[in-house]
Amino acid sequence: MRSIKTLLLLFSLLVAGSATLTAELSAQGPRLKHPQKTERATAPDENGLHQWVEWKGQKCPLCKGVGKSKCVTCERFSKDAKDCPECQRKDKAKLLTTCRICIGEGALPDPLKVVPCAGCVGAGTWVCTVCSGSGKLKVGSAKRWSSCPACRGKGGFTCTGCKGKRAMGPLQTKPPLSEAPPEKILKTMQSIDKTIALFAAFQPVGGTKARKGVKSLTVAFDSFKKVNPAFKALGKQSKTYMGKIFAGANFQGHEENEANTMKMIKENAEYYLKHQKRMLELALKRAELNAAQTGK
Ligand SMILES: [Zn+2]
Ligand SMILES: [Zn+2]
Ligand SMILES: [Zn+2]
Ligand SMILES: [Zn+2]
Repeated sequence: MRSIKTLLLLFSLLVAGSATLTAELSAQGPRLKHPQKTERATAPDENGLHQWVEWKGQKCPLCKGVGKSKCVTCERFSKDAKDCPECQRKDKAKLLTTCRICIGEGALPDPLKVVPCAGCVGAGTWVCTVCSGSGKLKVGSAKRWSSCPACRGKGGFTCTGCKGKRAMGPLQTKPPLSEAPPEKILKTMQSIDKTIALFAAFQPVGGTKARKGVKSLTVAFDSFKKVNPAFKALGKQSKTYMGKIFAGANFQGHEENEANTMKMIKENAEYYLKHQKRMLELALKRAELNAAQTGK
C-alpha cells in the first residue's frame, strides 16, 4: 500500500516538474501565457515534512536562454528615434533589451523569489502612450516633429514599483509565505482576493469619466499595500502617470487612448496578482500537508 502511495507521489512530482510554461505576446507585451500554471515542487524530508525542492528554472520560452529579446517598445515607434525609454537604444543594431519574462536570467527565475513587477511586468518603465515611447509627435498636418506634451520628450517614466529593476521579490509577510502556516496563508489569500475583485470591477474609461477611473485604480492598488508595500508606490504612479497622459487630451482619439492606458495598468496588475495567487495556493498546499503531518 505504502509503495503505491510513494509511486503516486513520485508520479505527481514528475508531472509537476514537466509542466512547461509558454510565452505569449499580448497587447501589453511579452509574458507567460498562463502564470496560474506556475509550478514549484515540494518533496518530503526525512521527517516527512514537505520542503521546497531546489529550483531548476525552465529555459526561458521567449529568449531561449539568451536573456535578451527584441525591444517591443522600439517596435512601436520609428527606428530613427534616438532613444527608447525601455532599452535606451543600447543595442542599436538589433534593438535587443533585457528579456521581460526571465528578467535577463535566460531561465525562468524562482517564482518564490523573483516575480515580474506588478506595474511594468518586466519593462522597467511605463511607456508614454501618447507618443508610444518615441517622445515626439507630428500634430495634425504639421511636417515637423514636436516634443510630446505628455512625457516632454522622455518617452516614458521609470516604474516606481520596481524602481526600474523590472522585477519584485516575494510578498512581504511574516513569516514569509514559503514558510508560513495555513492560517497565515489563508489570510493573505483573502487579501489578494479582495484586491483581485477590485481590479476586476474596474472598468477603464476615457474622456470626462477618466479621472474618476484613476481614483478607483489607486484604491485597488492601495488595498494590497500591506502585503506588498510597492503597491503604494504603484497607486501613486497610476495617478501621476495618468495625469501626464491627460496632457494628450487635445489629440484625436484621446478618449480611447486613455481607456487603453488604464486597461494596460489594470492588466499588468492582474497578471502579477494571478501569479501571486498561484504561489499562495502552492504555499498553502505545502503548509496543509505539513500541518497534517505534525498534527497541528
Ligand atoms: Zn528570457
Ligand atoms: Zn527600445
Ligand atoms: Zn510621450
Ligand atoms: Zn516595474
